Amino acid sequence: DYALYHAKKRLRGGAVLFNTDHEHQINLEARIESVLKQADLEKELSVVFQPIVDIRDGSTIGFEALARWDSPTLGKVSPASFIPIAERAGMIGSLTRPLFRKALDAAISWDAPLRLSFNLSAHDLNAADGVLAIIGIIETSGFDPKRLDLEITETAFTHDFEQVTQSVETLRRLGCGISLDDFGTGYSSLTRLHALPLTKFKIDRSFVTNLHQSPASYKIVKSLLTLSADMGLDCVIEGVETEEELEALKALGGTSVQGYLFSPPLPEEQAMEFAARTSREDSKIAV
Ligand code: C2E
Ligand code: MG
Ligand code: MG
Ligand code: MG
Repeated sequence: DYALYHAKKRLRGGAVLFNTDHEHQINLEARIESVLKQADLEKELSVVFQPIVDIRDGSTIGFEALARWDSPTLGKVSPASFIPIAERAGMIGSLTRPLFRKALDAAISWDAPLRLSFNLSAHDLNAADGVLAIIGIIETSGFDPKRLDLEITETAFTHDFEQVTQSVETLRRLGCGISLDDFGTGYSSLTRLHALPLTKFKIDRSFVTNLHQSPASYKIVKSLLTLSADMGLDCVIEGVETEEELEALKALGGTSVQGYLFSPPLPEEQAMEFAARTSREDSKIAV
């Protein structure tokens, strides 16, 4: 029967399409992994810097270093894809080391005492030698650990809570700030949060998108800001893209913001130009 024949064909077509997509995804990941393993990471990896701005006066507080990979074979690959692949392949340490060195090498030459944020992966912290490598890089760079914020996601603590917590405590004792990244998207219990030596929360972008139109997001951001204030922690709000979102955040008492509304991540030289335009002395008129 003609109709049945076409229905089956459509279904088969759909199934085949699904398989192809799924296989394509797996093949792509395998390909990224194998190219990554042979890459000249020192040469192909770089860092860009996204300003973190104090919205009360428009001044730049510091920058978050974000990884970029320009592969001769694959072209530009997003960290959202290659970082998780490197983590699963057990090779994140060999990315963290050159990235962290490059970020610190840049930051050590900054004129103003701006802060530097750097993302660490759970796998950088779930073994004692990982944290030793990180400390070694900080010491070699000569950068003041007190101007450093190490960003760790909530999920990092679900890997090996004891070891990761110990590593974080070691870094905190060295003077580093510890930021909880993508806050609100994980499953941290409040008891656990209190046990961690945190200095900062970073509220995830998903709560900021259309904040002014979403009563649910508004309530969540409000509670997270209250929680951070009660815990005596700073709070950075990520992913602010529009004036409307910014106005809503101001009304909620947010102070530190990162997002395309202010600036995308920038190459070092442009990041320094941005900082100079928004330095504390003349920033009253900048925003
Ligand atoms: P993250 O640490 O939460 O960094 C924020 C991400 O949001 C960055 O994406 C940034 O470019 C993006 N972003 C900032 N403002 C806006 C905005 O207004 N709108 C939108 N749509 N996006 C915005 P990016 O650079 O692609 O990095 C993605 C993730 O990859 C990071 O999320 C972080 O988890 C990871 N990552 C990046 N660099 C490193 C690194 O050096 N080491 C490790 N372990 N992870 C890294
Ligand atoms: Mg981050
Ligand atoms: Mg984040
Ligand atoms: Mg993230």
